Amino acid sequence: IYTYLPLGLRVIKKIENIIREEMNRAGAQELLMPILSPAELWKETGRWDFYGKELLRCQDRHDRNFCFGPTHEEVITDLFRREIRSYRQLPLNFYQIQTKFRDEIRPRFGLMRGREFIMKDAYSFDRDEESARASYQKMYDAYQRIFIRCGLNFRPVEADNGLIGGSMSHEFMVLADTGEETILYEEQGTYAANVEQAEVLPPTESSTEHLLPLEKIDTPGMKTIKDVCKFLQVESHQLVKTLLYQTSVKEIIAVLIRGDHEANEIKINRLLNTTALTLADTETVARVTSAPVGFAGPVGLKEVRILADQAVQAMNNFVVGGNAKGTHLQNVNWDRDFKVETFADLRQAQAGDPSPLTKKPLSAARGIEVGHVFLLGTKYSEAMEATFLDEQGKETLAIMGCYGIGVGRTAAASIEQNHDAKGMIWPPSIAPFHVHLLPVTTSEKVLDTSKKLYQALTEAGIEVLWDDREERAGVKFNDADLIGIPYHLTIGDKGLKNSIVEIKHRRTGEVVKIKPGQILRYLEEQLSSQ
Ligand code: ATP
Ligand code: MG
Repeated sequence: IYTYLPLGLRVIKKIENIIREEMNRAGAQELLMPILSPAELWKETGRWDFYGKELLRCQDRHDRNFCFGPTHEEVITDLFRREIRSYRQLPLNFYQIQTKFRDEIRPRFGLMRGREFIMKDAYSFDRDEESARASYQKMYDAYQRIFIRCGLNFRPVEADNGLIGGSMSHEFMVLADTGEETILYEEQGTYAANVEQAEVLPPTESSTEHLLPLEKIDTPGMKTIKDVCKFLQVESHQLVKTLLYQTSVKEIIAVLIRGDHEANEIKINRLLNTTALTLADTETVARVTSAPVGFAGPVGLKEVRILADQAVQAMNNFVVGGNAKGTHLQNVNWDRDFKVETFADLRQAQAGDPSPLTKKPLSAARGIEVGHVFLLGTKYSEAMEATFLDEQGKETLAIMGCYGIGVGRTAAASIEQNHDAKGMIWPPSIAPFHVHLLPVTTSEKVLDTSKKLYQALTEAGIEVLWDDREERAGVKFNDADLIGIPYHLTIGDKGLKNSIVEIKHRRTGEVVKIKPGQILRYLEEQLSSQ
């Protein structure tokens, strides 16, 4: 949890204003909901339990339960059901810019992932699916404009709906090597998705080897795929790993994944219609497989449902754990040696996999999620009975969408994308000030010129930060580079002798020598071309 200092707060306010303008332009209306919300609303949708520890809870003096809003679907849906009666009032879209609280398990990187943070959240209500999709598209377009205006290099990608729910969603990813998310995309094409979401196409070829007899082999102490591959002199794609998961209803599930692939728990959850999948603990593994972790395999596993990634379906004569300490099995074949309940897309997509749209190989990049739009459908309106009367006077569930932008995270993402060794480089649209005025001596002439310029620029609506400290020029220049205001206006005695001041472009380092009387026009031109 942080205090926003004056310069940072100005950046936050600028981002908020861009968001506000674009939301208003898209027909959304601003309101402000309470930060605290009563447990009753959250119990109606089941999220009082479902949200888990990320939801910070508290009690009032009458021991009534509340939570600090991490998102506001419940509160807005409650408002809707109390206030909206008729289809004639739809479509509606309400938004707010407000402080959220999420008790993140790993808060990190400052404003990127704080526990208390500022979010713009919007909620749309429509009478039917078609109109809901149009509302979603409007927000999608508004988000494009917002992030373009913030000067960010970003990409919208298909995303998972997570704790919010619903049927379709896109994340807006700022491209940066330090990003926590991985996206897969077509270099020349439209497909882009969060790696969690990216669909993997079924393999096009299956192994045609003859089925060989099953063999048991001693692999003492070899618990990792690398160890086993080296020992047996096979490649990791000839091996199948068996992951044991415990579901939220305490069922144990085995998931088979090719040795060189990674399991995707979101896809497994979706297939099982569960949410809280965890890898089984050592005791459970020992109980189910009669072996320590590292030797689990599908052959002879009892009372455990076996799911397998579709890549396994294309394999035969593979290697698996032997369900006994220090043993593996070779030349294993599904169906002959064990039964698979379902083959499905259960693995993480990776760079090089074919695009589900065009089959061209996908590339990978790192990204920071700054915005997320969801088509919710009736998840919340159904749980909370948020209905309106349609043209025939029939009670109908509102179709909802929700749309979030992390304001602080957007500022942090801008820094990730715009900096050099000396400090930050703000795009003019969200910079705390437009111009950093840097008098380098305290002579009367320098002071007098500074004062006049400050006044003239300020009156013209240009925001000027005047460094009036009695510091050496070097100190001022270093601080100015660190703070990253786009234009540095340096005023010194030497220049003034020839009626010259200097404007430095922070991004390029380019220095322009200019007469004081021409500065206003120069800066106005520069700023309007941004
Ligand atoms: P993440 O996966 O990064 O935790 P999320 O999917 O939980 O994000 P949403 O519920 O979609 O996030 O929230 C909308 C937006 O709020 C996100 O796109 C992000 O910009 C911002 N946001 C979410 N959590 C945080 C946080 N802890 N700190 C700062 N911003 C956040
Ligand atoms: Mg989150």
